[in-house]
Amino acid sequence: MHIPRNVLVTGAAGFIGSNFVHHLLAQDAAVQVVSLDALTYAGNRQNLEGLPDAARHVFVHGDICDAALVDRLLREHRIDTVVHFAAESHVDRSISGPGEFVRTNVTGTFTLLQACRQYWQVEAALGAASVRFHHISTDEVFGTLGPDDPAFTESTPYAPNSPYSASKAASDHLVRAWFHTYGLPVVLSNCSNNYGPYHFPEKLIPVIILGALAGRPLPIYGDGSNVRDWLYVEDHAEALLLVLSRGAPGESYNIGGENERSNLELVRTLCAILDAKRPKPSGSYADQITFVADRPGHDARYAIDPARIARELGWRPSVTLDEGLERTVQWYLDNEAWWRALQSRQGVGTRLGVGAVSDPHRGTVSGANRRSPEE
Ligand code: NAD
Repeated sequence: MHIPRNVLVTGAAGFIGSNFVHHLLAQDAAVQVVSLDALTYAGNRQNLEGLPDAARHVFVHGDICDAALVDRLLREHRIDTVVHFAAESHVDRSISGPGEFVRTNVTGTFTLLQACRQYWQVEAALGAASVRFHHISTDEVFGTLGPDDPAFTESTPYAPNSPYSASKAASDHLVRAWFHTYGLPVVLSNCSNNYGPYHFPEKLIPVIILGALAGRPLPIYGDGSNVRDWLYVEDHAEALLLVLSRGAPGESYNIGGENERSNLELVRTLCAILDAKRPKPSGSYADQITFVADRPGHDARYAIDPARIARELGWRPSVTLDEGLERTVQWYLDNEAWWRALQSRQGVGTRLGVGAVSDPHRGTVSGANRRSPEE
């Protein structure tokens, strides 16, 4: 059992990181949290407003690749727990500009591992029970499944297909190696597609909700048959707390919602929820659905087998997909100022990952640029 006391959360201004910080501060009245985030196009300081006990939270604007900064934060705040979310996370952006994915996801993870090893093991000689490095990863490292293949387990071989998933796989391997080689007390978790509050408006679910409300076409990649396994982000945050405190060092845990849906089914469900909550003068939001060119190398199906975390840590998702989608649509209806402020950010509303390759962090991507849904 590990009891986190002084926690460094990387990528805390992003989608899952910010949900986790809200959840952690609400669940643990003694914990102190330092949020480290570079505030890239995906980071948003507003995601960390209204925290349950803001006096126990510090925000630091900085880069996980900055070794001197990471070293200083570990010592200054006597960090005993790192929860590592910071990453470039969008597959389409990784196709257009993979360099930043290697820098943050691989070199950034390496920088954090080295800093923790130096501070925890070499200098402070802290034992495995008192410190923990929790690396957050994805089911995409396992590659793609056929329609009848069994879901991914913790022992499924890695077979990443996109620059994003390859960079995440590389970081997972580094984390594993720091456990086996140096005995750094790490835990890993690989989760399926998250959804819920604070989801950045370039990802599929917010793109569909906001596009529907704006009366835009709702483009679907390919024929919409790609299947994803959806996990409500607040259920994920609870699972992460369990893995962090009760997971066995060196082990990985798959976290999934057992909610497989094709993209087309998912979009139709969102349209039906919107039809009920904010009816159009005539017709359905589903009338706005349109099919566009597929993503290169688009994985057909992801599915997580969460049997291990259920059996060993007693975790189960608390909401069904229908309940979670209903809550999510309501959150976007109630938080218009939040998403409007993000719509002018670089690349949002632009089709990335098709046509000529360039760096989406630096400039406009050539090739097709119509609006489209993206996971
Ligand atoms: P996100 O893109 O919303 O947030 C990433 C955050 O990291 C942003 O706030 C960004 O500013 C920050 N960041 C990026 N580069 C940084 C750097 N060099 N230094 C410091 N901060 C930096 O991502 P997310 O959806 O919240 O995902 C969080 C983690 O979960 C990622 O590691 C991702 O691979 C993993 N994951 C996400 C999903 C999902 O469905 N969203 C599914 C599986 C795994």
